[in-house]
Amino acid sequence: MDLFRLTVHEAADLLRRREVSSLELTQAALNRISSVESKVRAFVTVCEDLALEQAKAADQRLKDGVATPLTGIPALIKDNMCTDGVRTTCSSRMLENFVPPYDATVVEMLKAAGMVMLGKANMDEFAMGSSNEHSAFFPTRNPWDLGRVPGGSSGGSAVAVASDECFYSLGSDTGGSIRQPAGFCSVVGLKPTYGRVSRFGLIAFASSLDQIGPFTKDVTDCALVMNAISGYDPRDSTSLPQPVPDYTKSLVPDIKGLRLGVPREYFVAGMQPGVKDIMDAALAKLQELGVEIDLDVSLPHTPYALAVYYIIAPSEASANLARYDGVKYGFSVKDASSMWDAMEKTKQHGFGPEVKRRIMLGTYALSSGYYDAYYLKAQKVRTLIRREFDRAFEKYDALVTATSPTVPFKIGEKMDDPMQMYLSDICTLPMNVAGIPGISVPAGFVDGLPVGLQIVGKPLSEETLLRVAYAFEQSTEWHKRKPPL
Ligand code: GLN
Repeated sequence: MDLFRLTVHEAADLLRRREVSSLELTQAALNRISSVESKVRAFVTVCEDLALEQAKAADQRLKDGVATPLTGIPALIKDNMCTDGVRTTCSSRMLENFVPPYDATVVEMLKAAGMVMLGKANMDEFAMGSSNEHSAFFPTRNPWDLGRVPGGSSGGSAVAVASDECFYSLGSDTGGSIRQPAGFCSVVGLKPTYGRVSRFGLIAFASSLDQIGPFTKDVTDCALVMNAISGYDPRDSTSLPQPVPDYTKSLVPDIKGLRLGVPREYFVAGMQPGVKDIMDAALAKLQELGVEIDLDVSLPHTPYALAVYYIIAPSEASANLARYDGVKYGFSVKDASSMWDAMEKTKQHGFGPEVKRRIMLGTYALSSGYYDAYYLKAQKVRTLIRREFDRAFEKYDALVTATSPTVPFKIGEKMDDPMQMYLSDICTLPMNVAGIPGISVPAGFVDGLPVGLQIVGKPLSEETLLRVAYAFEQSTEWHKRKPPL
């Protein structure tokens, strides 16, 4: 048996029955990393010694009978979540040598659950991007076709799960960065409701949009990881004080009678015909499972979501990234003639081109004279978009769309055209603008390239999303296919 191929729940069963040890699982994952990492490059850092040490501690816990379903399971964390004593780079020169003195809340929670941390995942610099090509270090490659992008910004987290280098991973999603790479790599990715999972220790990109969530090999694993990372955190002022349900209770194959809507604005011009065919097949499958599907739903403000996002996200980014001035921590130039010169050169050399573009866009949108026309207007349209979703959810239990309008594109294809790159998030951005949850599940392939089905719901409807995703998954085989590595 190839241990690295197991899902979290399969590995946990074997651990519980003591048929395998965490040390064996960890060694299997580390061997897998050695054999495929040179092709896909999902890791910025591999923590071999730490992982082996944590695996031994987990085996002791299992022996003592104080284990959780995640105890002893090797995982990967996106490199924008602080990890005590382990370099956290955001895939930026600016933080290339930054070693945080504390853990993000999610990392703390996973450690408490008995995680074995294999390392830190490559990403687009500061989570700005949709292809992982904006990593300051190297691009991560799509395991289904090494000449194509894995999506982004959490590309490394998605690829490592798809390539069986880890059993699950964490990513962050500001405008699609969990769901889009999950769709592009044929794994499960969930962006929770804004406030469901703590952002404490997540290096901020756009604070009103950022949310952490899991990448897993199947929906059952997604529920298990959600159980471990969800909940109120007094250190995150936007954390929701609502109790956390047991998400595994949603893993029932029966979805008869649920009402699903298909918003027509998501079938955008530019949607590839193959993706449309897969959507049609997925809807037919859901119908077979007994849901009511309304194909005549309209969310007319959808086309404005991209513009709203590209005002609000860069505005918040320009404020959040002002702290990288070369003084307190991070990269700092040595040969400066004055304080101002030092600050200018630090930012010039520390940030890559996409990050600079966002800072300039945001600074412009917030500047006096333009603030009302851009930032304030965007906030008003944001409210309209949120209300439009609220109204839709009075009628439907969930909405379904494709996760992306296209299959993974070629490396280099959109690098010279930021607008084309931004358009690849057209189906996922609106949920961040509205703060609502969305999940992407494997839904098929076009010429060997993955396509994801996205299911979205009202705030705190993760249970419904998991239920629909689980029923769909159990009636299809897509999640069992493995990339040809
Ligand atoms: N691709 C989008 C952007 O570049 C979203 C990124 C994200 O979700 N972190 O901003």
